[in-house]
Order: sequence, then structure tokens, then C-alpha cells
Amino acid sequence: MEGIEMKDVEVKHTVAEFEEVLRGKGLRRTIPRMMILSILVESSTHLSASRLHHLVTAAQPTISISTVYRNVTAMTEHGLLHGVEYAGQTRFGIAAAPHHHVLCERCGVLADVAVEDLAQTATNLMARTGFEISPSGQVLRGRCRQCRDDRRPAVACRAPSRPVA
Ligand SMILES: [Zn+2]
Ligand SMILES: [Zn+2]
Repeated sequence: MEGIEMKDVEVKHTVAEFEEVLRGKGLRRTIPRMMILSILVESSTHLSASRLHHLVTAAQPTISISTVYRNVTAMTEHGLLHGVEYAGQTRFGIAAAPHHHVLCERCGVLADVAVEDLAQTATNLMARTGFEISPSGQVLRGRCRQCRDDRRPAVACRAPSRPVA
């Protein structure tokens, strides 16, 4: 990850502190950026650009979807956010606090995994394959507990009890 001081970013997890992080990356502190960051920090999850747009416009109705796209893209390129793909959609989360993910291929539920949980595996893989494994942002795909218990065949009729952002 080019030029990102993960150590610095890691400890700066409040919205106020993100202002400083934005500044440090040469990104201006704009209302859409601060809103996107604050929504992601508060929800502590990963959200699609359209979901983010929906939440942003609740407070700032004039902000367009393209503004949201442009800003999540810029912040992703600068290492503040990262994206997780599912069903043709990208959900964005705060990359500043390093973590991995488990993703349910059936219902799309996403959960964070501590970097320590994969550290030894990553070290082994590096030794065996020669690949430098990214220290965060990995996605392990599988089935969540609820989908493992659910014998119904397809995605279609799942009750909306757990919203997929
Ligand atoms: Zn993430
Ligand atoms: Zn599931």
C-alpha cells in the first residue's frame, strides 16, 4: 500500500481524527468525505455506495450518487477505505483499522476477522509460495452460521432479518 503509515492510521479511529488523516493524505476535508467516514465509523460495517448515498442524503439531500462514488473511490485509492465484492457490488469499509473478513456466499453477510487470526497462515504461505500476502483486507468465503442451519436451497426467500447493506 503506497505510502500509508498504517501505524499512524491504526490508532486514529474517531471522526475528528480522520480529518487529520485526510489532511495527511492530501485529501481535502469535504462534507461528503466526512459524512461517509462518520457513517462507516458509526455503523462499524461495510456499506455499498448506494447504501452510503441513501444515508448521506438523509442529512444532505443535494449530495449525488456520483459524488459518493467519486469520494469512496478516492479514499479507497488513498488507503482510507477498502472494498469487499459480493454479488457484483462493492461494499466499502474503513481500512485504517486493519482487519480481514469472512463473507457468506449465500446471503452476503460480512464479518470482520482480526489480523492476528491469519498472521501465522500468511507467514506460512509467504514461505511456501513466495507471495507477499497483504496484511489486511483478505476475504474468506463460506457460509454463515444461519445459512449452514438453513436447509432451504436458494437465496431467494430469505427473510430480511439481517439486512445486507
Ligand atoms: Zn473491511
Ligand atoms: Zn449467510
